[in-house]
Amino acid sequence: MNYRGRFAPSPTGPLHAGSLVAALASWLDARAHGGTWIVRMEDVDTPRCIPGADALIRQQLAACGLVSDEPVLYQSQRASMYQRALDRLMQHQHAYPCGCSRKDIEETLASRGLHTDRHHSAVYPGTCRPENGGLKGKPARAWRLAVPEPSDITWTDLQLGPQHQNVGKAVGDFVLKRADGLWAYQLAVVVDDADQGITHVVRGQDLLDNTPRQIVLQLLLEVPQPRYRHIPLVLGENGEKLSKQNGAQALDLNDPAGSLRQAAAHLGLPSCPGTVPESLQTWLKDWACTPATNKHPATL
Ligand code: GLU
Repeated sequence: MNYRGRFAPSPTGPLHAGSLVAALASWLDARAHGGTWIVRMEDVDTPRCIPGADALIRQQLAACGLVSDEPVLYQSQRASMYQRALDRLMQHQHAYPCGCSRKDIEETLASRGLHTDRHHSAVYPGTCRPENGGLKGKPARAWRLAVPEPSDITWTDLQLGPQHQNVGKAVGDFVLKRADGLWAYQLAVVVDDADQGITHVVRGQDLLDNTPRQIVLQLLLEVPQPRYRHIPLVLGENGEKLSKQNGAQALDLNDPAGSLRQAAAHLGLPSCPGTVPESLQTWLKDWACTPATNKHPATL
């Protein structure tokens, strides 16, 4: 198998202990399979990106011995590819423009006695779906995927085993291009994983919930499905995912070996007193012994 893996940080700040775990796990998995490991900068949400954070992340990764095998791809330069994917979805009636504001959506849901709230964002009631009359004269604000029914997605996560989500019920018609003109993460990640020939996605469990949406997009765009492995998160003192928001410290560039040891311990790898390259080689042997299979690609 021609394994191609990736680490896809958002340059909204420097790497911290949590993001290093994802970087290390994806690197070890790629190397253990004799594969290629690529870094992709997910700077599609430009207002959240911090100038220079991409360079700092690359420097931090390099200090930890983790260097992309191919030139680093920047999502901010890929608008034409995302537009092409949206055009294709539109051509096949899988996407449609939506003129609803958040308030419109809440009011429609309330009028139906529904208050479905999912991570503080309502399941879209389908107001602007073509079969419901489309925009009805409203200007287009965003573009949404017409999630097909049935939309039961099942797949086997290489870490967590069998998974299931009914995307229509749990999420609804999700946004592909936002009202502020920015491309949504879901579309960008699917287009880029496909274009880069990614066969394996190893990332934190906070992203598990996104996977069924990404699989729906892969099925509709007729691109291959990567295999997924969602690794346990590093939690902050408040029990939540370690993040810049809850005070995660940037990795100490003076002690990359120490930072790597911490990340490796989180992944259940043995403590290693050696240099960065020596430690990586030791963990690689250990990682290669971890069984992982995925015999069930998802279907719609
Ligand atoms: N850019 C995302 C993040 O930093 C990761 C996306 C992914 O790995 O699919 O959380």
